[in-house]
Amino acid sequence: MTSTAHDELRDLSGLYVLGALTADERATFEEHLRSCAECKAEIVSLGPVVGALALAVPRLEAPADLRPRLLSQVSGRAPSATIPVERPDPAVRWADVAGWLAAAAAIFVAVVLAGYSVRLRDRVTRLEGQLTEMTLQAVMADRQVTEIRRTAAEARSTLGILAAPDLARVELAGQKVAPRARARAFWSRARGLVFTATDLPPLPAGKVYQLWVVTRQAPISAGLLTPDTAGQITAVIETPPDLPSPIAMAVTLEPAGGVPAPTGDKYLVGVPAAGL
Ligand SMILES: [Zn+2]
Repeated sequence: MTSTAHDELRDLSGLYVLGALTADERATFEEHLRSCAECKAEIVSLGPVVGALALAVPRLEAPADLRPRLLSQVSGRAPSATIPVERPDPAVRWADVAGWLAAAAAIFVAVVLAGYSVRLRDRVTRLEGQLTEMTLQAVMADRQVTEIRRTAAEARSTLGILAAPDLARVELAGQKVAPRARARAFWSRARGLVFTATDLPPLPAGKVYQLWVVTRQAPISAGLLTPDTAGQITAVIETPPDLPSPIAMAVTLEPAGGVPAPTGDKYLVGVPAAGL
């Protein structure tokens, strides 16, 4: 198909999708369509709009002279000689045409805008979903970094305590209520206390284990301990530098939240190996 044919026929695409061509013109246009990608794309792009138009408005019979007038309006050319033009009373007919065109144009614009707004809303919804997902990932990444920092700080401080020149070790033995329990405390006056325990019985509801550093003056609470499901505890505990030298360490079962002085059964008791 030559480009001359394309130039003559491309303006028909609108009328074609509106079903406003005569049978002959439709045949000619469809013949051209087979070989013209540009016109084919135009038809495809108009398809959804026309489908919506067909649903939105009752089908009107276009005035007989609509096509040539529309074509001359669109192309700025006089109606083509290949399309026969009837010449009815221009004053009466033009009013019909103008009204029909205005209505069609208004509906066309409304349908295009409606389609655009639907696509825009879908896009916004999709982007909002992506934003939520990314925010969630950022929060989770932050949390992981915090967790890693905490673990690293804990490992550093554990290592610091275990490498302390003034390190003392206390072995704690299970008592009557927990004969299988064992624990070790590593204490540095300068760096703090590392405490590990195994085989502690599960905590009864509303109770907690409490670790005591027993000095000549009084037992001093070193903190509350909750074993994991295997009955194990690993804790790194800061101790005040002016803590009096312990003569013993003990773990008792106390009400949740802890108590200022031991009240419950002793589960673990031990005395320093030497030198404290
Ligand atoms: Zn074409």
